[in-house]
Amino acid sequence: MKVLRGNLHIHSDQSDGTLPVPEIAGIAQRCGLDFIGINDHYAVRQDHQYIGGVLVLMGTELNRRHSHYLAYNAPVQLPPDQQDGAVVVKAVRDCGGVGIIAHPFEKGSPVISRGRHYPWKNWAVRGFDGIEVWNLTSQWRDAVAGYVQALLMWLCNKYMPFYSGPCPEALAKWDELCQTGHVTGVAGSDLHAPQRRVLGITFRILDYPLLMSAVNNYVLVQELQGDARADACAVLGAFKRGRCWFAFDKLAPAREFSFVALGREEGTLGDVVQRRGSRVRLKVASPLPGRISVLRNGLPALAKEGQRLEANVAEPGVYRVEIKLRRRGRWLPWLYSNPLYVK
Ligand SMILES: [Zn+2]
Ligand SMILES: [Zn+2]
Repeated sequence: MKVLRGNLHIHSDQSDGTLPVPEIAGIAQRCGLDFIGINDHYAVRQDHQYIGGVLVLMGTELNRRHSHYLAYNAPVQLPPDQQDGAVVVKAVRDCGGVGIIAHPFEKGSPVISRGRHYPWKNWAVRGFDGIEVWNLTSQWRDAVAGYVQALLMWLCNKYMPFYSGPCPEALAKWDELCQTGHVTGVAGSDLHAPQRRVLGITFRILDYPLLMSAVNNYVLVQELQGDARADACAVLGAFKRGRCWFAFDKLAPAREFSFVALGREEGTLGDVVQRRGSRVRLKVASPLPGRISVLRNGLPALAKEGQRLEANVAEPGVYRVEIKLRRRGRWLPWLYSNPLYVK
């Protein structure tokens, strides 16, 4: 299997982003990404393409006032603000697309856009494929309590808000959802890179290269064919199945990760593995030495410092991995895998 690294949830100048798609693809190439996901609001064109060797997944983002929904391979015809999450989930599912709930627990900032925020509202709905557990733009905005603090954060360390890891409420909701059926967890940058002019100097806030080198997704796919449509289907299929993880790449890239379970057969991320006798052997390989935790149904089950963790488990459940890296004496959130299921 091949590991591809990519950035999801990007806006271009086709909606409220600030650069055309080819320029965004060029930046992605320089950031070492294999693919990007463009999610302009109510985008009409959704034909995937290769630009400079980067696979560009052309999707859209549905809804405006709340319950934003990222969709791929879903040429849905809906009014521009459908609102009810159940309607957009059903529309994307009905046309065989892939749908991901965007920034579900966004809170907003009192000093940005008058506190506007766009959380997901209808949690009774089912049938979505994924949930954005980590949305970088939301996290940055949610962290801004005032102008002075925002300026300090911008000047000292633009990546500061990301050091706390994914949204805790989204992680908890993801763990809860996976106990009744698989839902893929992803990271999204929600790149817009708005332009501002201060003292005659024009600059972009949260610019494309900044967020594309912050947090990225890694997907496991079979060999690619070089055809954009076929390869996009392979990447989206891997996302849908949960064959992916995401990591805070600014700390370190996380390509060489694996999480497998050996039971009656061998399985990996997104798979269901039957116990052999009464147990399954779990094997985690981290790209770098760190603090490896295996969670079962959202609760800590196993932990070890190092680059490998191997253990037998007897309890069925939803198992996923988190890894922290030590930097300047602190353990920082780094890598989050999708779950595998022990039966
Ligand atoms: Zn949104
Ligand atoms: Zn967005």
